[in-house]
Amino acid sequence: MYDIVILGSGPAGLTAALYTARAGKKTLVLGGEKLGGQTAGIPKLENYPGWAGSGLGLAEFMKNQCETFGTEFIFAEAAKIERREESEKIEYSVFDKSGTEYKTKTVIIGTGASPRKLEVKGAKDFFGKGISYCATCDGFFYTGKHVLVIGGGNSALNDALYLADLADSVKILHRKSSFSRAEHILIERIKANPKIQCLFNTELSEVVGDTTGLTHAITKTGEKLDCDGIFVAIGHEANTDFLSEEYKRDVLGRLVCDANGTRITDGLFVAGDVRSDCKMQIVIAGGWGCEAAMDAISYINQHK
Ligand code: NDP
Repeated sequence: MYDIVILGSGPAGLTAALYTARAGKKTLVLGGEKLGGQTAGIPKLENYPGWAGSGLGLAEFMKNQCETFGTEFIFAEAAKIERREESEKIEYSVFDKSGTEYKTKTVIIGTGASPRKLEVKGAKDFFGKGISYCATCDGFFYTGKHVLVIGGGNSALNDALYLADLADSVKILHRKSSFSRAEHILIERIKANPKIQCLFNTELSEVVGDTTGLTHAITKTGEKLDCDGIFVAIGHEANTDFLSEEYKRDVLGRLVCDANGTRITDGLFVAGDVRSDCKMQIVIAGGWGCEAAMDAISYINQHK
């Protein structure tokens, strides 16, 4: 029986694990398929105080820190959480996708968010054959080629800058007339990059290709844009599919907790991007990981 099972190995889950393990609680991180969550895909961090390396490097550093204090790690995805209540004693079982059960007194959900999918004609057919949701994973394949980036937030602009170092040309397609959501410093870098062109008020209606891959995209106004690859960065959706409907979600599908807190119900806590109202930043995810850990530790100590 664990004291705490933490779902997710992004900055929220890893911070939570550091705190719970240091508090002497038997801690398991069920870390998803891979370490680090979305952070692992960031080539160079510029806005996490104290760290200027890669996102994966930060996650590895944090994992080592957690292990120093006895945290166990298993890399598998959570499939189900079951709650048992007997004579006022509450326990949970977490099952991973292979059906393995992990019994625990408390659970911290830090499963983060995944990229929102592009819903235009052809997009599904060309996923992995021209359409990508990860510039740092797939950008290399487009060295010397022509790519489109869809979106107008920080992710899209970061992706465009990353791809401009590899591709011959990068066009950002944004449905609004300006980058109203993105950071000033990124907008300035985009403007200064001769390889990047911004097409505002532009949305795709279809992506087209043949057996060799993508050939072009067509906009809603009928314009044909030749391209070898399309990188999609149109926001994120919370990873909560494994949880039953009884747990309340907000309009974005993120989990709603007690006001200003991390508790969903007795023994069940939430941290990071999967929490309603969490601003999606590594430093903030870490903060919520700390909060959730402290709430879980206090709950365990009160229910001995
Ligand atoms: P955002 O939600 O910030 O931006 C999503 C973008 O995609 C918006 O421009 C939106 O347009 C557009 N969009 C949404 N749906 C569609 C669609 N169906 N078709 C076309 N365009 C669409 O998401 P991000 O992933 O960029 O960022 C998520 C969070 O992570 C933000 O808080 C961001 O600040 C943070 N982040 C921070 C980074 C950093 O370095 N500080 C790096 C990356 C992310 P519209 O504006 O019209 O809604």
